[in-house]
Amino acid sequence: MNGRYADVAVNAPVGPRRLFSYAIPDGIAVQPGQAVRVPFGPRTVQGIVFDLPDLPAVSDVRTVEAVIGSGPLLTPAQLQLARWVAEYYRASYFDAAALWAHPGFRQRARPVLTPAPQAESPDLPPDLTDKEAVVLRLVRERGRAGMSDVEESVGKRAATAVVRALLERELVERHWEWERPSAGPRVEQFVRLLISPEQARDAVPGLRARRATRRAALLEALASAPGPLAVTSMRRDVAVTAADLTTLAAEGLIALETRRVVRDPLAGRSFVTQSAPPLTPAQERAYREVEQALEAANATPPRDGHAPTAFLLHGVTGSGKTEVYLRALEKAVALGRKGIVLVPEIALTPQTVQRFAERFPGRVAVLHSALSPGEQYDEWWRIRDGAFDVVIGSRGAIFAPQPDVGLIVVDEEHEWTYKQHDATPHYHARDVAVEMARRTGAVLVLGSATPDVASYYRARRGEYRLLEMPERVIVDESAGQPAVRLESHLPQAEVVDLRDELRAGNRGMFSRALMEGVRAALAANEQVILFLNRRGASTFVQCRDCGFVLRCRRCDIALTYHSQGERMVCHQCNERRPVPQFCPQCKSRRIRYLGAGTQKVAEEAATAFPGARLLRWDRDVTAGRRTHEVILRRFLAHEADILVGTQMIAKGLHMPLVTLVGVVCADIGLYTSDYRAGERAFQVLSQVAGRAGRGPRGGRVVFQTYSPQNYAIQAAARQHYMQFYEQEIESRRALGYPPYSRLALLRYAHTNNEFARDEAARLAGDYRRERDARGIVLDVLGPAPGFPQRLRGRYRWHVVLRGADPATLLDAVAVPPGWDVDVDPAVLL
Ligand code: ADP
Ligand code: ZN
Ligand code: ZN
Repeated sequence: MNGRYADVAVNAPVGPRRLFSYAIPDGIAVQPGQAVRVPFGPRTVQGIVFDLPDLPAVSDVRTVEAVIGSGPLLTPAQLQLARWVAEYYRASYFDAAALWAHPGFRQRARPVLTPAPQAESPDLPPDLTDKEAVVLRLVRERGRAGMSDVEESVGKRAATAVVRALLERELVERHWEWERPSAGPRVEQFVRLLISPEQARDAVPGLRARRATRRAALLEALASAPGPLAVTSMRRDVAVTAADLTTLAAEGLIALETRRVVRDPLAGRSFVTQSAPPLTPAQERAYREVEQALEAANATPPRDGHAPTAFLLHGVTGSGKTEVYLRALEKAVALGRKGIVLVPEIALTPQTVQRFAERFPGRVAVLHSALSPGEQYDEWWRIRDGAFDVVIGSRGAIFAPQPDVGLIVVDEEHEWTYKQHDATPHYHARDVAVEMARRTGAVLVLGSATPDVASYYRARRGEYRLLEMPERVIVDESAGQPAVRLESHLPQAEVVDLRDELRAGNRGMFSRALMEGVRAALAANEQVILFLNRRGASTFVQCRDCGFVLRCRRCDIALTYHSQGERMVCHQCNERRPVPQFCPQCKSRRIRYLGAGTQKVAEEAATAFPGARLLRWDRDVTAGRRTHEVILRRFLAHEADILVGTQMIAKGLHMPLVTLVGVVCADIGLYTSDYRAGERAFQVLSQVAGRAGRGPRGGRVVFQTYSPQNYAIQAAARQHYMQFYEQEIESRRALGYPPYSRLALLRYAHTNNEFARDEAARLAGDYRRERDARGIVLDVLGPAPGFPQRLRGRYRWHVVLRGADPATLLDAVAVPPGWDVDVDPAVLL
């Protein structure tokens, strides 16, 4: 039974986890998940119904104004998950629920003024101020005016007061108008024949004789077309005018009609159906387990709290994980279910989409932030209609309205782009997928060559079932028939000690080994990638003689160099130290900060290898929507010999002519004020090392470093995940970082640095007091500056909560306005 009241999440900045009660008027049917319009303060706002209680939470309730759309926007299962997202990530219920809404759903109403019905004289009241008179005249003359019109005529400052005065005296009325949605259906005009094609052709000579050539051409085109034609294309092709159309319509020869057109991101691309290759033994073992889980999930009706059937597929690069996903998807589809596949934004390339589209021709939907809003809108509705077996997309695709999901795949599950960093809720798409699978009984496959340390830890504890694929699949196409062989010893990267180079008198950026390798590759007409890890990079101080890095005494993370004031700063606890003049370990004076950019590398490469054709690929040069595809295509076409770039090039691209990958300084990214710096460096360097030896020409990878003994560099060079994991998990345990604790990062930013710092100190103080008063076991770290400390003109300060359950303290002390909470932050910088 539905109650007569609705608890509604409103589209207004009301803070986290708040619902508001409204009465449901008679004659309106409302279900949970329904989008509605409700009055809120003086305005009308969008809302989403969460509950239908019999009694309201407050006595004085207002009434739901209207429902939006036919039927609920969210299913009961989605609404449950939205509640979880809002509660877990401490976001507003509306912001959480709106993740499941179609593109362009969010809308705001703007005030519009109209003249009040004039009871007495049409003259202006004599006691109005000049500005009030101006605005009243404007509203009466135009019949309506928006706030921007008012601001234009009397200035921004006076506008609000003037409008309030006119409203109070009932000289104008205020209405709310909804702004245009940012995306919606596209409709186009089509022209259709009302006569037979033969009759149309017969009419052509007569029209030509009357020199009505455009009309004649239109009838000819329609006569030979299989159906109606778009007016836009007829304007273009036969220059038909609106008058021509009116005339022909009046003569009863044609009719105009409006049709919905679908914008299809894969339009114009055709895919050759590919059948599945036979699986390798390791793929077979992994697939069988997933298959059994899919069958079991289908046999028992899913219920809440269903035992998790989540897998962590740990397979080295090139072990054929994608093939396992494809097989599992085929199985899910055969069982009558559908799938969602998440891939990192950067990996959602035409090549990736093609691999899926070839196996499910016409049944793959793509959701990607680079699609136009219109394309996203159309794709969303077609998905909701059940048009696709597989939805593939970046992090937001986890909220796709894919019905009856039986399988969720998260490829490269360790990627930090799954975390929504900029907007709220700060959800992690992989963790939402885990929760979704747990609640719906869908089977989940998390795949990675370098799993998130926390994921691997969970798998070892039995929360995920671990599937290992340690061998690489090598496809040799040289012998006509592609031959498949397995490789269990992965090629290793050479680690070059830059301290030795210095001792040998080489002060340049490139070691002798790398120089010689590049020259050999160029001489053989092969290609080279020079790679620089800039992910989360900050500048740190390192001794070039012994490799020593200055660390925080309390947090054991690297200190960051600040040129302002020449200081070393811990971005977690704010410890500050002067920049050392000589190395505390070996007393060398060659201690300096590092942080070369790709531009510098490109410049030095141009000098070192004259005549080589260079191409640069990083975020600075790939701002455009498709630029990176262009750069990639040019490099693949061998229009350049050396590609200089950041981690964007480390992704699983197939570049057969590349025989040498040089990591210019493997230390960059390794030392930042972030407990995950080592993990991230390991992941990126492993990916780079995994690029070697994939083509028939083989290949070589060189890591240049000042810290050749560093565990992350060592393990990445050997492509040895376990070696890395054992060390990393031990240090996490010793220092109390996740997965042995959980973190919440609180962020504050202000144009005034002192103000921001004091505000952060105040909040940290409140947390400490409350923690001690309640006896909660939790670390309150900071306040500490963010990195970069100043972003878009605002100074950033952070407070970090670390412990078994930071939520207890977040519940106890309400997050003050202006603060941003990030639960399970991907980075602490
Ligand atoms: P991963 O996703 O683990 O990096 P891929 O799925 O991209 O690996 O596989 C690497 C290469 O091996 C691809 O070119 C793929 O087509 C090929 N491959 C994978 N499995 C097989 C198989 N069973 N038989 C033939 N080729 C395969
Ligand atoms: Zn030293
Ligand atoms: Zn510290």
